Amino acid sequence: MKTIDDLGDLRGKRVLVRSDFNVPLDGTTITDDGRIRAALPTLKRLTDAGAKVIVTAHLGRPKGTVDPAFSLAPVAERLGELLGAPVTLAPDTIGAGAKAAAADLADGQVLLLENIRFDARETAKDDGERAALAEELAGLADVFVSDGFGVVHRKQASVYDVAKVLPSAVGSLVQTEVEALRRATVEPERPYVVVLGGSKVSDKLGVIANLITKADRLLIGGGMVFTFLAAKGYRVGNSLLEEDQVDTVKGYLETAADRGVQIVLPTDIVVAPEFKADSPATVVAADDMPTDQIGLDIGPEAGEQFRAAILDAKTVVWNGPMGVFEFDAFAGGTKAVAQALVDATAEGAFTIVGGGDSAAAVRTLGFDENGFSHISTGGGASLEFLEGKTLPGIDVLN
Ligand code: ADP
Ligand code: MG
Repeated sequence: MKTIDDLGDLRGKRVLVRSDFNVPLDGTTITDDGRIRAALPTLKRLTDAGAKVIVTAHLGRPKGTVDPAFSLAPVAERLGELLGAPVTLAPDTIGAGAKAAAADLADGQVLLLENIRFDARETAKDDGERAALAEELAGLADVFVSDGFGVVHRKQASVYDVAKVLPSAVGSLVQTEVEALRRATVEPERPYVVVLGGSKVSDKLGVIANLITKADRLLIGGGMVFTFLAAKGYRVGNSLLEEDQVDTVKGYLETAADRGVQIVLPTDIVVAPEFKADSPATVVAADDMPTDQIGLDIGPEAGEQFRAAILDAKTVVWNGPMGVFEFDAFAGGTKAVAQALVDATAEGAFTIVGGGDSAAAVRTLGFDENGFSHISTGGGASLEFLEGKTLPGIDVLN
C-alpha cells in the first residue's frame, strides 16, 4: 500500500483527496463534526507540503441530481475553521466552475468540490459511466489520495475508478484504519477474543462465519443472542428472534465445536415486559426466560463472565452493543464490556471497537476514546473487513 510519503515532493502539485464528510446535519447545522476532524491530519499534511489540495466527498443521498439540501457548504465552512484557513467551495461538482476554481488554487490552498453524488455517474453500475467521471476528476490533479475510510468498501468513481487513472496513495486515516484492522484479523496475537452484539444476527452472518474459524473465543450478546439461545433449545419469550436463522446458527455452533472455538453465551439476561426505558427490569437465567418478557441486555453474571474472557485476551475485537444501551436500565452489559476493553488495553492488549452504534455507545456512556487501541470510523467498511472481504477502494491501491 503506497502512502503519501511515496508520492514524493508535493510542492505545487495538484492533489485530489477523497474524504468522508458524510456528517449528520440539522438543516445546515453540523451536529457531529467527527468525520471532518478525522480528515484533518491528511489535509494538514498536504497543505504543509505546499500542495494544491482538491477534496471530493459526498453528503447524504441526493440520488444523482443537484439538490441544495445536500450541499457541502456547511462542511466547507467548518473545515475552514478547523484548518485555520478558508476553504473554497466549488460551485459545482466537476463543471466549468470546479475547473476554474481548481486552476486558481495557490500552493497550500484547499478547494472542496460540490457533493460528488450530485453526479449520477459516481455510483453508476456501468463501469464506463464511472470511468468517464473518474477521467474528469483525474483531469484536475496530478495524484490521488484515498482517505475516506467510510467509503472504501464502495466501487464508486471517486473512490475506486479514479485510483486506476492517477498515481495513488492512502491517506493517514485509511492507513491507520487498515493497519489496526489487519493487526486484529491477520495473525492476531492470541488469545483472540471477539465480542459480537447489536440488533440482528442476519446483519452479521458474514462476520460470524469468518471469525468463527479465526478467533479463540466468541462472546455473544445483544439482540442476536436470542437466536443463539433458541438454537440451543431455550425459550426466549418475546425477545428479538430470527426464526429463519436458527438453523444457520446451529451450524455455527457445530463448526465452532469442531474447531475448538469457544462460543460463550450469557448465563443471565435482563428482561422487561415492554421495550421501554422505564419498563421494570429483572434478571433471569438464560435457560429459563419467562414467556411474556423481552430480553433487553445481558445480565450482571454474564458481564463478569465476558469481562474475565476479555481480560484474558491479547487481541479483542468488539462489534455491536450488548443490550439496548440507549435506555439506562439496559446499558449495564455494554458498559461492562467497554470497561473490560479499557482495562485489557491498559494491560497491553490490542483492542478494537467497530460498528457505528458501538462507537456511539462508547462515547455516550462516557468512556474516553483513548482508552481503546482503535475505534473504527467506518461502520460498513469495518464490518466488511471483519468478514474477510477485499475492499475495492483498498484493493485498487495495491
Ligand atoms: P453496530 O452499529 O455497532 O454494528 P448494530 O447496528 O448491529 O450495531 O446494533 C445496534 C443496536 O442494537 C442498538 O440500537 C441496540 O439498542 C440494539 N440492541 C442491542 N441489544 C438488543 C436487544 N436485546 N434487543 C433489541 N435490540 C438490541
Ligand atoms: Mg448500526
